[in-house]
Amino acid sequence: MPELPEVETVVRHLRPRLVGQTIQKFAATWPKVTAPAPVKTVAGQLADRQIVEVARRGKFILLELDRGLVHIHLRMTGRLLLAPTDVALGPHDRARFSLSGDDDLVFRDMRKFGRIGYLPDRSALEAQLGPEPLDEAFTGDLLAALLKGHKRQIKPLLLDQSFIAGLGNIYVDEALFAARIHPRALSHRVSRAKAHALHSAIREILTGSIAAQGTTFINFAWGADKTGGYRMALKVFGRQGQPCPVCGTALVKQWIGQRGTHFCPRCQRKR
Ligand SMILES: [Zn+2]
Repeated sequence: MPELPEVETVVRHLRPRLVGQTIQKFAATWPKVTAPAPVKTVAGQLADRQIVEVARRGKFILLELDRGLVHIHLRMTGRLLLAPTDVALGPHDRARFSLSGDDDLVFRDMRKFGRIGYLPDRSALEAQLGPEPLDEAFTGDLLAALLKGHKRQIKPLLLDQSFIAGLGNIYVDEALFAARIHPRALSHRVSRAKAHALHSAIREILTGSIAAQGTTFINFAWGADKTGGYRMALKVFGRQGQPCPVCGTALVKQWIGQRGTHFCPRCQRKR
């Protein structure tokens, strides 16, 4: 599933190609792609609107319009592709933005969990999302205070988008390993020093992954799927059974909060 670095990579790719274009028409072949709003309603809201900026908030891709904004969540398998205007949609293509330029924007989504919607402004999004981990306002002190304010296992807490926006399974496992925090540790018991280590780890890992264009898939062009370059840098995610790069102990995978969680039982002690 795409997380902050993958979504940021998509946004950086689309921004110069979409800003200034007008959405001439929005159409969907999968009626629930705009749920809970009907496709017809969203199509009416997007028709003839100009794209003035492409942005990211958490894991949402935002097309800011001359009035209102489109929010797109890729979820499990969603992808945004620029496609020649005359290209026929494939079986997994759920929606199409017909644009004023040479290409259309196509939403491809095999599993159909992805969603596209319209909002008059950002307030409803802001109400459900925590701070952006790469913003200047997200400091080590802020993270320490937020952790103290919750009594939850840290792994599911970090995945909660209303706590911090943008983190998913891969980067939470990597950040907890880098900060030597057990994924089941209770948030309010995490020391101030470890909270600061976690803050640094989150920022370094996300920044490194953005520079490598993410870990999982990304799309640059019609028919051209690519995988991000950060997979080589992963230290624990997907490496269960292999030696810990720090101490050599075999890495383990356990289900925590219904998510496969990778960690080193020696480096990440629970206490
Ligand atoms: Zn270790």
